[in-house]
Amino acid sequence: MQTQRIGIEQLRFAWHPDAKQFAMKGKAELTVRVLALDLEGTLISDAISAEPRPGLFGFLEFCQSRFDRVVLFTCVEEPDAREILNQLSCGGHVPTEFLGRLEYIRWDGEYKDLKFIPNSVPEEVLLVDDDPGWVRSDQRDRWVAITAWDGRGDCELLCTQSVLESRLNSRAVDSV
Ligand SMILES: [Mg+2]
Repeated sequence: MQTQRIGIEQLRFAWHPDAKQFAMKGKAELTVRVLALDLEGTLISDAISAEPRPGLFGFLEFCQSRFDRVVLFTCVEEPDAREILNQLSCGGHVPTEFLGRLEYIRWDGEYKDLKFIPNSVPEEVLLVDDDPGWVRSDQRDRWVAITAWDGRGDCELLCTQSVLESRLNSRAVDSV
């Protein structure tokens, strides 16, 4: 039997549905499967006041329907983050089903390195975050910028939904 030394990424792609496309077209053509969401300034005001951003419920419904996985990538500790979202769910601002599927990413360091997300590679992740300071320079193409919420009425979540939809659709067109 011939043995071959292969790296972790190759193992990952060996079973990925897009492995054939990856092999043919290269790394940039991977399908986006994972959506990483910041919490403070993006979905809510901050962890203290925990006000829901306008359009939060519809945005999260969209996220869970269009991505295989949705993960929370935040500086807020997991128990606090989940408590906030549970409270918002009780108030009708977060879909109950969303809470059950939401993954929390454990990380440390200066950047929200998408490599912290288990069982994925950065090329199949999009990160929605209001703060560019957390984004690694070599992962800027995975970042979907959103204006930090100032507590007033805005339609940023709806705009972001459109951006995400177009990113998903462009991948679908590319892969045809
Ligand atoms: Mg933020």
